Amino acid sequence: MALHILKCQGCKRYTIKDKCPKCGADAIQMIPAKYSPEDPYGKYRREAKKGSLKEKGLL
Ligand SMILES: [Zn+2]
Repeated sequence: MALHILKCQGCKRYTIKDKCPKCGADAIQMIPAKYSPEDPYGKYRREAKKGSLKEKGLL
């Protein structure tokens, strides 16, 4: 399991603690970006969809 990287809301430092060790402000978890320019499975998903459309005679 990956280490949770938290970001201090006060001083914007990265920490693994719930509270920033530097300023004591709450640290929030970094939310990974949903969008990825390199979607390793997107290609296969599209190929699979294309295939099923062909089967139905829609393409
Ligand atoms: Zn801080």
